[in-house]
Amino acid sequence: MPIDATHDPALKSWVPGANDAGCDFPIQNLPYARLRPRGGDEPWRIGVAIGAQVLDLAAAAGQVPWPDDVEPLLQPLAVGDLAGFMALGRPAWKAMRAALSAALAEGSEQAPFLEPCLLPRSAVEYALPCRIGDYTDFYAGIHHARTVGSLLRPDAPLLPNYRWVPIGYHGRASSVVLDGSGIRRPCGQSRAGDAAEPTFGPSRRLDHELELGLWIGAANELGRPVPIEHAEDALFGVTPLNDWSARDIQTWEYQPLGPFLSKSFATSISPWIVTMEALEPFRRPFVRAADEPQPLPYLDSESNRARGSIDIRLEVRLQTPRMRAAGIAPVRISHSSALDMYWTPAQLVAHHTSNGCNLQRGDLLGTGTLSGPGRDQGGCLLELTRGGREPLALPGGETRTFLEDDDLVVLSAWCEGPGAARIALGSVEGRVLPAHAGR
Ligand code: CA
Repeated sequence: MPIDATHDPALKSWVPGANDAGCDFPIQNLPYARLRPRGGDEPWRIGVAIGAQVLDLAAAAGQVPWPDDVEPLLQPLAVGDLAGFMALGRPAWKAMRAALSAALAEGSEQAPFLEPCLLPRSAVEYALPCRIGDYTDFYAGIHHARTVGSLLRPDAPLLPNYRWVPIGYHGRASSVVLDGSGIRRPCGQSRAGDAAEPTFGPSRRLDHELELGLWIGAANELGRPVPIEHAEDALFGVTPLNDWSARDIQTWEYQPLGPFLSKSFATSISPWIVTMEALEPFRRPFVRAADEPQPLPYLDSESNRARGSIDIRLEVRLQTPRMRAAGIAPVRISHSSALDMYWTPAQLVAHHTSNGCNLQRGDLLGTGTLSGPGRDQGGCLLELTRGGREPLALPGGETRTFLEDDDLVVLSAWCEGPGAARIALGSVEGRVLPAHAGR
């Protein structure tokens, strides 16, 4: 997937605002979401973000002259069937991107036809981009694994398998929700300190996890692994993801089978999927230091070494209800980079399918919490507060160890680098709702 004309940083759009400095969705981005005009009952359709607007592909498919080879690609998008579009495969994904780029570029003859197909982003509502059959959560952030491990096992932070096998578990797809959804504080079983018996009640150690979600766009047959050389072909795009976690429930339940109810109550994602094509200028080599175990052959390839990593920057902001009342904007509490992932997206796909497990279109893979090496780079409160022992100081003199009711968490991700236009992956926010009465 070489860099092409759609990535040219000098390319401009005729859509007002799309060329503004710092714009999240310039013409080099072109992410997809499932949406419709807000407050009506029109059918869902796929839209493409451009500047502060979206191009409604249901409207655009019907009224605009498109190249003959692009017309059939627009059909599933016009009826909101992103999985149907994924099924057409990477050549179609690339052709659609090229067609959208040409249509939205300055000087396009399609501009007068497409202008009525634009909607302000503030005037649309979103649905999940497609049916998510399965959600898997990995643990590829080594700084997170090491810091959390050091809280549990100061003498052996990383377990011996970490550097050999991409650790993951099967999550819950039904509770994946969109940006803006309220997050109900879960109730569950936990055991405080050295108490003799556990109790059941609202979690007192609710946390966020800063992750990226990888969208599977191509299925593999049951029993047939995807070799790492072809693993990139399975990936459609990327989205920011918050894997909400209840640490007190997790600590009590996680042995020996891993997290269960401490994670399955909610996972939030941005409605926007930034395609792998859009991320092309930000691909970087995968480097494994010489004194580390090298990946086993099924997790190693020339192409993965050359370009397996992606330079995506991430940050977390937090706003308490008191900050909100005082007009204080959400404050940044963490920042990190996807370059710190111990395993690349291609390695996660190759590993996931290495036993013959079939991935399906619309499956979602979480990377695991993406923390940086610094003290202020923890991708969750468990890390930032050293297990709740060192509260985080917030503007206005408040502190937090874990999330309180009505706290707002905002995760954002973006890409920037030399010779490329900055593109954003959008953001995902969620506000904590009080627990339902448990007993
Ligand atoms: Ca996680």
